[in-house]
Amino acid sequence: MGAVTLIRTFPYSYGDFAALEKLRHLVDEQVKEDGYNSGHCYSGTWSSLNPGLDIRTEKIFESVEAARNWMVENLEKFEPLVAVLARQIKSSLIEGDSKLTELTMQLKAVVSQRETEPYRIVKEAKSAALFKTCKSCGSRLRLQHVCTVDCPLCRQNLLVTRRDRLIEERLVKQEKKLQAQIQKRREALLKRSKKEGIPDEELVWVVGGVCPS
Ligand SMILES: [Zn+2]
Repeated sequence: MGAVTLIRTFPYSYGDFAALEKLRHLVDEQVKEDGYNSGHCYSGTWSSLNPGLDIRTEKIFESVEAARNWMVENLEKFEPLVAVLARQIKSSLIEGDSKLTELTMQLKAVVSQRETEPYRIVKEAKSAALFKTCKSCGSRLRLQHVCTVDCPLCRQNLLVTRRDRLIEERLVKQEKKLQAQIQKRREALLKRSKKEGIPDEELVWVVGGVCPS
């Protein structure tokens, strides 16, 4: 069985009980959505983790990226989701800038398409045929029981075609390009806000887990 460290961010509001309940609610909703999208099986999404949310506020990470790296190194497969705090550029700074908003929306669309590609591939394969023979191990598989693009027996690729790989490559390329543009724009905005003495940072929840697939 493989695993994917899947991380998402959620808005932070000053940490009283209601704010934590709100975070739990938002995370719950996302887990439900993942379960719905993946058909409730070990799909490398949040719905394949043990239930619960472990909120850890003792340390604040310097960036979302730093929190992500910590999670990749420290979290264990199947553990409930963990939420930590990280600093990020103030969202009002981003939202007030139409160019950055536009770029962020484009990136979101590309990431979401890339993340849901495996579901599309599985869905399409299921609607095209009842059985598929794995090229690696030779097993004849009933697609009804297949949840991911890999063979459930030998873990090698079962469903991803050359066309799917090209789509993936294109999406990765787009994602990198948009990330670079966003980074550049953020740096320009930060420079401007520092010059004008505007506070430019806020806290954000980074929630993640090592999801079996
Ligand atoms: Zn196989």
